[in-house]
Amino acid sequence: MGWLRDWKRKRILARHRIDDALWKRAQRHLPFLRGLSAGEERRLRELAVIFLAEKQLAPVRGVALSDDDRVEIALQACLPVLELGLDWYDGWVGVVVHPSDFHVQRTETGEDGVVHEWEDELAGESWPGGPVVLSWEALDDSGSVADGGANVVLHEFAHKLDMMDGASDGVPPLPSRAARERWLKIFDAEFDRFCRAVDAGRETFLDPYAAEHEAEFFAVASEAFFESPNALKRDFPRLYELFMGFYRQDPGKRLRA
Ligand SMILES: [Zn+2]
Repeated sequence: MGWLRDWKRKRILARHRIDDALWKRAQRHLPFLRGLSAGEERRLRELAVIFLAEKQLAPVRGVALSDDDRVEIALQACLPVLELGLDWYDGWVGVVVHPSDFHVQRTETGEDGVVHEWEDELAGESWPGGPVVLSWEALDDSGSVADGGANVVLHEFAHKLDMMDGASDGVPPLPSRAARERWLKIFDAEFDRFCRAVDAGRETFLDPYAAEHEAEFFAVASEAFFESPNALKRDFPRLYELFMGFYRQDPGKRLRA
């Protein structure tokens, strides 16, 4: 079916594009989109066009998405797969946008058989094979490169990449067993080091929330990799290098200029 998909994508690109004014506004709002080479910029804009054609953006509860909103969601979703390809987002179509942070009911049965129930307040969520859910309010807060501000789109789409092999564990699909072993060694060591720093109450530029689980560490560190790469490189050089190999990008280099 590869040829059919290619043909459809070519047709989409022949009919649609992100115009220059929209692109410039997105770059102003999302400074981490700066510094791309001409070729990277062209490919990112094309990926975003295909993303918008193939995925369904579903605003709910009164949210009205402008063209700028839609394009900014798509550009941020596509930046991590710039060198990997959109096929990494296969298997689901929905991107649901809530007006603000939303509540979800959680239940978990403990080892003692007791069912625990609690409520989480979230700015975003994604499930394997299911939609990505985003808070419109949180979308507006994204974009700060300097202070490593949270980026809900990068975060949730990083979860999607992690889940691509069916497990939400901070280990995305990797090309070989050796690559997986290397990943586990470096990633786990960096995660442990981060958790120790959080436990000790030390200041860290990554959100302490990332200490909750390997999957959260992967998603939060991925946000930083694209939004504030030089801070990630400074504090987690081995993780940065690992991510550079996985994403096949060096955002620190392009944002240093
Ligand atoms: Zn998360």
